[in-house]
Amino acid sequence: MTSDAENKMGIEKLIRKELLSFGGYAAAASPETLAGKIGMREQDIIKLDANENPYGPSPRVQKALSKYQQFHIYPDDGQEKLRQLLADYTGMDMKYIVAGGGSNQLIDLLVRLFVAEGDEIINCTPTFGVYSFSTRLVGGKLVEVPRKDDFSLDMKTVKTAINSKTKLIFLANPNNPTGNLTPETEIVELLSTGVPVVVDEAYYEFSGMTVLPLVKTYDNLIVLRTFSKWAGLAGLRVGYGFFPPAIADFMLRIKIPYNVNVAAQVAVNESIKDAAYLMASVQLMVKEREILFQGLKKMKWLQPYPSQANYILCRVSGITATQVHKRLQEKGILVRYFDQPRLQDCIRFSVGKPAHTNALLTALKEIGG
Ligand SMILES: *Cc1c(COP(=O)(O)O)cnc(C)c1O
Repeated sequence: MTSDAENKMGIEKLIRKELLSFGGYAAAASPETLAGKIGMREQDIIKLDANENPYGPSPRVQKALSKYQQFHIYPDDGQEKLRQLLADYTGMDMKYIVAGGGSNQLIDLLVRLFVAEGDEIINCTPTFGVYSFSTRLVGGKLVEVPRKDDFSLDMKTVKTAINSKTKLIFLANPNNPTGNLTPETEIVELLSTGVPVVVDEAYYEFSGMTVLPLVKTYDNLIVLRTFSKWAGLAGLRVGYGFFPPAIADFMLRIKIPYNVNVAAQVAVNESIKDAAYLMASVQLMVKEREILFQGLKKMKWLQPYPSQANYILCRVSGITATQVHKRLQEKGILVRYFDQPRLQDCIRFSVGKPAHTNALLTALKEIGG
C-alpha cells in the first residue's frame, strides 16, 4: 500500500527519493527576464552578475562561425583536434587534456568518476556552488571547511577532515566569490595528503597564477580552465582540464558522446589565434577592477575585498544585501547576491567596462550615500 502523500504525487513518486528536496543551482538571472519585469530594453540592462567578458569574443569567432559548413556533422567524440589545439596552446601533452561543455561539465564528470553514494568531498566555503551541486546530485557527502575571516584556507581543519571516504578536494583559485588566491605552497601541502585536488583556474587569465606545471609531478592534481570568462565564450559552453593521464582516459570514457559542440570548437580555434586581442581585453578588465575597487572603498557603507579575478565581493552595512540587490535591479543593474551563511551581507560585482563602473557607482551612491 502507498501512503496518501505518495498517492497525491504523480509520476514524481518514481524519482530518486533524495532528489525530491533538491533545490537545484541558483543560476544568474537572464537579462531578457529582468527586462520584461522592470520594463527596460534588454540592451540597456547592465549585466554584472556572472563574470562574463563585457567586450565579447574575438571578432574572428563570429566570422568563422558564419562561414562554417559542417553544422550537420557530429563533432569528433575523441576531441583529437581540439585537444591537440589546447596542447599546443598550453604547452602540455594532449594525454593530460579533456574538454567539456563548460568546465562545469568537467566538475560534474569528476564527481561522478570519484564519488559514490556516501563518499565525501571537501569544500572550502564560501566557494563556487557547482562543487556542492554535483556532489549532492550523486548522493555524496559534503564536508564543508569554512575559510578563515580573510577567506584564506584553514589548512589544519582541511587536513583533519580527511578520512578514508574523502575522494576529492575542490579549490577555486582565485576563489569565487571572494576573489583571493591560495598560494602554491598551500596547494602543495594539500597535494601531499594524497587526496585528489581539483584546482579550478577559471580566472587564471586575470590572476596570472597557475599550478599547471605541477600536473606532471603530482598524480593527484587536476587543473580546470574555461573559455567562458577571459575569451568571452560563456554562451558557447566550453572548458578544459588537465588530468593525470589515467584519469583523463576515464574522463573521456564516461563523458556523454560528442560533449563539445562544433561551434564551440571553431570558436576555441579562433580565440587561440586571437589570444593577444583577448588578453588585451583582460588587461582592460584588470585595470577597471582597481578603479571599481577604489570607487567602492570610498563609500563608507561598503567594504570591498581585494580580488585577483574579474569580480569584487563587497560587504554592505546599514542596509541588507537583498535590498541593495533589489534596488540595483530596479535600476537595470544585475549583480550577484548569495543566500549563504557567511555571505548574507555581501554582494558580488562583476567588473565591466568603464561606463558600467560609472553607472554602478552612481546607483550605489543613490542607494546608500
Ligand atoms: C565561471 C566559473 C567556472 C566556469 O564554468 P563554465 O562551465 O566553464 O562556464 C568554473 N569555475 C568557477 C569557479 C567559475 O566561477
